[in-house]
Amino acid sequence: MPIRLFDSLTREVRELRRPDPSDPKDVFSFYNCGPTVYAPAHIGNFRTFVVNDVLRRLLELEYGPDKVKHVRNLTDVDDRTIGQTQKEKRPLAEITQKWTDKFHADCDALNCLRPHVEPTATGHIREQVDMIECLMEKGNAYRAADGSVYFKISSFPGYGALSRIKERELKVTNTVADGDHKDSVSDFALWKAYKPEEDGDVKWPGPRGASEGRPGWHIECSAMSKKHLGDTIDLHTGGVDLLFPHHENEIAQSQCCNGTTFARHWYHSEHLLVEGTTMSKSKGNYYTLGDLVEKGYSPMAVRYALLMGHPRKQLNFMLDSLRAAESALEKLRGYAEDLCKLRKLNFEKTFGSAELPSMPAERRPLLNDFLGRIYDDLNTPGALGALFTHLEDGWQWIGEHADDPESWESNQDAFQHSIDELRLVLFALGLKLDAQVATKLEIPPAITTLAEKRWAAKQAKDFATADALRKELAAAGWSMLDSKTDYKLEPLKK
Ligand code: AMP
Ligand code: ZN
Repeated sequence: MPIRLFDSLTREVRELRRPDPSDPKDVFSFYNCGPTVYAPAHIGNFRTFVVNDVLRRLLELEYGPDKVKHVRNLTDVDDRTIGQTQKEKRPLAEITQKWTDKFHADCDALNCLRPHVEPTATGHIREQVDMIECLMEKGNAYRAADGSVYFKISSFPGYGALSRIKERELKVTNTVADGDHKDSVSDFALWKAYKPEEDGDVKWPGPRGASEGRPGWHIECSAMSKKHLGDTIDLHTGGVDLLFPHHENEIAQSQCCNGTTFARHWYHSEHLLVEGTTMSKSKGNYYTLGDLVEKGYSPMAVRYALLMGHPRKQLNFMLDSLRAAESALEKLRGYAEDLCKLRKLNFEKTFGSAELPSMPAERRPLLNDFLGRIYDDLNTPGALGALFTHLEDGWQWIGEHADDPESWESNQDAFQHSIDELRLVLFALGLKLDAQVATKLEIPPAITTLAEKRWAAKQAKDFATADALRKELAAAGWSMLDSKTDYKLEPLKK
């Protein structure tokens, strides 16, 4: 069954190109733009990384784990990272290392597989300079008066194919971007000449003929993907905000320098929103994973919640969805435990392994439905739906045969099939059931009593009492989040 995925370039759902089985060296090359490590990644960023992690898992499942090469970079020098060093008056490497470590810890907690290579921009200055020199030699780039180097957009007729941006819009978008040293407002920086007041001690020797300085953001990914995956990659991904100008510029740089197609397939996932607007570091309207763990939610619930929406649709983040995710995970765990009991297997041993389970020879209903949906443009909500339909059917069978141990014996093969299928599905989604689904909060009994009273008052529409009790709870350091049928207590942030 081929994996089909929307291609942002052709704007259609297309089959992913699979590695050539006749060539043992042929692997599927997958480049995913990584984080900018100057601040904590928020769960919007992690929506993109979790979606990409599911993609990576599907590729491994379909082609084999040794047939996929996944590269995800770390942007550890750009305007934002340098801005942060100026703000904090600390060395660039110290800041980027701190946020890289935090990013890794969060990725591990969210059960994201580490990429096979995680190159840093500062570790690839030579490769970027080489590429800029190549572009200058070929007439696609020029040195500006201040010693910076710009890409000449008019030299690449294919510019705009990905974003379908018109020349007029391009001028408006780029007018104020890079100062006034360039020939055309549409051109973008490949190399930025050193400015002591802005850059501190961040500088490297530049391309031939240019000043010392630092690379532009876009060239980083072109150079790192070339180094680790070659001139043409099979799949290039990122969040939707990267489509323009970042990926448009990557295409221009790479294709002009390498003389060949840069990426065979482009995929962009949509943003996570908070109250209708994009969650972003610059807006400050974000949750980190740490914020949610502090509120008592488990990283697995966060991962699950991020998969509840279709990756190509915006998803509004609500704490309610974390509660739904927790109860879904609890159900899954209960079902997996029941299957293990019937099959007389140890649950921890059976479901605790992170290894890729082998694809069962016979695909039975769960796997067929699940893969049918998730291979169809990464329809994660549809795939979760298929999983829960199967779970309900399985539970119905278990309920109907609860008093019939003979039927358990005659169905051992079927239980084993269900276990194998379920393990595979959980691997594909990156969901672990061995972790505690929700970090249990220690709620003092007096707080629970107040909360119960307030809930009862609210149900009785005695809003004055309910409000007074809410205030009492807040004074004691607790907030109550109400849904239609229930409430949840959370410690107030200090
Ligand atoms: P950054 O660290 O800003 O370079 O972003 C890392 C990744 O997160 C990129 O692929 C962005 O497209 C993606 N991203 C940024 N904001 C959001 C958001 N609100 N929802 C989903 N993905 C996002
Ligand atoms: Zn990139």
